[in-house]
Amino acid sequence: MKTIKEKIAYLRGLLEGGNLYGKDPNTKVFWDHLLGILDDVAESINALGTNQEELAEYVEAIDSDLMDLEEEAYQDEDDDWVETDCPECGEPVSFEESFLYDDDVQVTCPECGAVVHRGDSFLDIDELEDFDDEEEEE
Ligand SMILES: [Zn+2]
Repeated sequence: MKTIKEKIAYLRGLLEGGNLYGKDPNTKVFWDHLLGILDDVAESINALGTNQEELAEYVEAIDSDLMDLEEEAYQDEDDDWVETDCPECGEPVSFEESFLYDDDVQVTCPECGAVVHRGDSFLDIDELEDFDDEEEEE
């Protein structure tokens, strides 16, 4: 299929070959004018096509960036962090939210070492030793 520009060029060729207009000189003026308009229209459509391509590329880039952001956002969602204050020294302590639901985990304050959170079945080795000592004393 021929492009619009090629079709216009074909018409212009017919015009310049003298086949399109008869004896009336106004006919050539009319055709010249009409072909000029067609040129403008073809040019506009061409420019629109170029703009559209640029726009499509831009949208694609935004889409790609958005996907990266979504990935990051969902990753953050996977490991939420809990922030609390140390009951001993008041320092803010943050730890993974999943620790709250893990019975075998203990979270201690990085400043003073106080226990901030302890799972229900967490066994503290130091406390076990203390327990043994107490038994021996009895
Ligand atoms: Zn502390």
